[in-house]
Amino acid sequence: MIKLSQMPYERPDMDEIKAFYEKLIEDSKNAKSGEEQLQLHQKYRDFRADYFTELTLAVFRHNIDTSDEYYSKENDYADEVMPLISNYENQYKKVLFESPYREYLEEKINKIFFKNIELANNSISEEILPLMQEENALISKYDKVIASAKIPFDGEEYNISLLRKKLTDENRDTRKRAWKALSEYFLSVTDEIDDIYDKLVKNRTEQAKKLGYDNYVELGYNRMQRNAYRRAEVENFRKQIKESFVPFVCEIQEKRKAQIGVDELKYYDNDVFFKNGNPAPIGTPEEIMKAGQEMYSELSPETKEFFDFMMENELFDVLGRKTKKAGGYMDYLPKYKAPFIFANFNGTSGDVDVITHECGHAFQGFVTRNDETPENNDLTMETAEIHSMSMEYFTYGWMDKFFGNRSDDYLKMHLQDSITFIPYGCMVDEFQHIVYDKPEMTPAERKQVWKDLEKTYRPWLDFDGDEFFDEGGFWQKQGHIFWNPFYYIDYVLASVVAMQFKVWMDKDYKDAWNHYLQLCKLSTRDFYENELAEVGLKSPFKDGTIDELARNMREKV
Ligand SMILES: [Zn+2]
Repeated sequence: MIKLSQMPYERPDMDEIKAFYEKLIEDSKNAKSGEEQLQLHQKYRDFRADYFTELTLAVFRHNIDTSDEYYSKENDYADEVMPLISNYENQYKKVLFESPYREYLEEKINKIFFKNIELANNSISEEILPLMQEENALISKYDKVIASAKIPFDGEEYNISLLRKKLTDENRDTRKRAWKALSEYFLSVTDEIDDIYDKLVKNRTEQAKKLGYDNYVELGYNRMQRNAYRRAEVENFRKQIKESFVPFVCEIQEKRKAQIGVDELKYYDNDVFFKNGNPAPIGTPEEIMKAGQEMYSELSPETKEFFDFMMENELFDVLGRKTKKAGGYMDYLPKYKAPFIFANFNGTSGDVDVITHECGHAFQGFVTRNDETPENNDLTMETAEIHSMSMEYFTYGWMDKFFGNRSDDYLKMHLQDSITFIPYGCMVDEFQHIVYDKPEMTPAERKQVWKDLEKTYRPWLDFDGDEFFDEGGFWQKQGHIFWNPFYYIDYVLASVVAMQFKVWMDKDYKDAWNHYLQLCKLSTRDFYENELAEVGLKSPFKDGTIDELARNMREKV
């Protein structure tokens, strides 16, 4: 195995890719048997692994140093060719979908893979390509409004992500003023954001109508590859959350009030958990990595092998640098069967999330790296996030390595924060259903919808008459609503499953771990609820699951 920084890069040749797919499509159409088609499919997998690895490397090397001119061009190239390649891939997958040997292929490849092709086929047509381009342009416009924010605060200028530290400052007056500064920025751009969103909603509705849908909701579900549950299941889930988690979260807010020592909770107290501020990790980035290695070597033989592999091959790039792109993610290089992690350590508890959450994703990639059916790992988000969110709980016993004498505070904060997120995630989801059901609503009506939902899902939240947040504007800072409609409930669905693991591990850690490992290895061999049942977990859609979970979690906060 070769270290990440040493991996050779070669720009994939589009002519070669085009020729490959043209021949593949032709040969596959003319295949005389399922076996022959499967052999051709293996060629596709190998070829794809190669160019996909190159493109992933190009993007990664640009992200770690955006001032590098060479990789900046390679990143542009990747942006340019990826839609073309996915178009070839779709054409090829259509041939498989329409194959006379389909039954054989479903059995040999993966039935979910075929279900996903069906959803994808119903999500696109030549006719809507211009609308999709316009949709992308509108999303970029929103991103620009957010990224270009210059917020004056205490004599300095902040962007939204840097201001975050001030929004959670232990000094109440500081965070109150920081929230006011944020509110003023949003107030200055809210008409623009309303206009962008209005155009997005109408654009997406038009795409849906052109494809024969009543409105965008169905199409949005197909684009999220909702292959195992639909609107009715999600609605029932949200109903259970309203009944069981909203009252539970209200109780947590009472506790938090005492923890931070205030008489009344205001919106600017929202992300603060202790009087002396939220706990931050101790130690240098190197020490954090070393603590991670110790932790995973103690946790299980599988995690030891995983983390040693990551360190040996230098598959982490986590130090914050000026020329590095913001954010953090885990990705995978199929040619080397290697996961890798990109992040920006900044001295907050977010650094530890990289070692727990992102490593949970990477661990799942690692334990399935020798699966001969790569399609098994086409994870949908509600499943992928189980791997990462559960790892946050499995690593609870080692948090003193990262937080020293504030590890108990950290665990309390993590638990309260994770539980408080659940109703919020549902609110984001319900908001979008209402919006796309009634695309003709005015921006003012949409804000009223959000304002009403706040009363249902976050009744404890007091916006103190703030001109922006108290008028139903909060959703405008939630990027997912703009980027990927309906991509949010996934976090909530995964979170309530991860909490089931938490309950389980507190009773029998080893048993819970073994079933977690089993779930990681299953990837997407089967549909969501079937997999949960297979490893002994309850479906969030079934009546009673959420109520039982809330009762079990109450004992822990
Ligand atoms: Zn994640």
